[in-house]
Amino acid sequence: MALRLDGKALAQTVESRLQTQIESLRDQVGRPPGLAVLRVGDDPASAVYVANKEKACVRVGVASYGSYLSGDTPSTEVLRTIQRLNANPCVDGILLQLPLPPTLNKDALLMAIDPEKDADGLHTLNLGRLLKGEQGPRSCTPAGVMAMLRSQSIDPAGKRAVVVGRSILVGQPMALMLQAANATVTTVVHSHTLDLAAYTREADILVVAAGCPGIVGAEHIKPGAAVVDVGIHRKPEGGFCGDVRANEADSIAAVLSPVPGGVGPMTVAMLLVNTVAAWCRRHGFKHGLDDLMI
Ligand code: NAD
Repeated sequence: MALRLDGKALAQTVESRLQTQIESLRDQVGRPPGLAVLRVGDDPASAVYVANKEKACVRVGVASYGSYLSGDTPSTEVLRTIQRLNANPCVDGILLQLPLPPTLNKDALLMAIDPEKDADGLHTLNLGRLLKGEQGPRSCTPAGVMAMLRSQSIDPAGKRAVVVGRSILVGQPMALMLQAANATVTTVVHSHTLDLAAYTREADILVVAAGCPGIVGAEHIKPGAAVVDVGIHRKPEGGFCGDVRANEADSIAAVLSPVPGGVGPMTVAMLLVNTVAAWCRRHGFKHGLDDLMI
């Protein structure tokens, strides 16, 4: 059986580190860090994700400035809400929960977020900083994956890595982070790739973020590989599954992230990391979280 990359346990460790940091600086700063999660419309999965993020804020001592706007809110009003959060001195991190209603221009709204408050690391400036190896908030899901690999002393240096999926949210920044950690990212495969297995079977580190339940199975995995499953899907019969057929991967991979309890909790933890780091930066304190923000 493959070793489990326990994202839930690691997220708890990260949270207690953040809690300690917040407690030690809160009196000097005069307020706790603040995170604003902006949800527009009624996507049911988003409602659950936002509630999880707000619960995590309470656990570590981050103040929540959540806003909810109905799905028919005009983009000018969403923009005004973002501008108000940009100007709010108690808010250090802003997250625009995706997906947005189809009437709204996601890219324009993400660009309106103050890059220094960009808790999700999706602003063009911050993606550019990642590309150039400059400091800045990092995309939460891939940063969480990197922390999970490190937690099991899996050093990507010199390893062959393959990423399935090329989204701006996960696949692309994931490939950049693996490269920054000296992996040889041989491919980023996507929906137009022919013969997926021919690429994935080469991978010592395989990160799967296709959003297709069970797309990766035994035939896609190199024996002894570390497999990280980013996908998460609600099963019709109840419970969750990922993009990887875990029962097959288990006997081939050396390391496997579970779904649930793998990447999901670390994504939330990294959102808090970006918020606390921004809070420290704004008040001239060292955040000491560099190991989580490569
Ligand atoms: P997306 O739909 O934006 O991108 C999916 C990518 O996978 C695309 O680049 C597409 O080309 C590629 N793809 C689709 N079908 C493929 C196939 N058959 N073969 C190879 N590549 C294929 O999705 P996303 O936002 O990147 O998310 C991917 C998955 O990760 C989803 O299941 C999402 O719910 C999950 N996710 C989980 C977390 C978490 O915290 N656990 C966070 C973000 C995303």
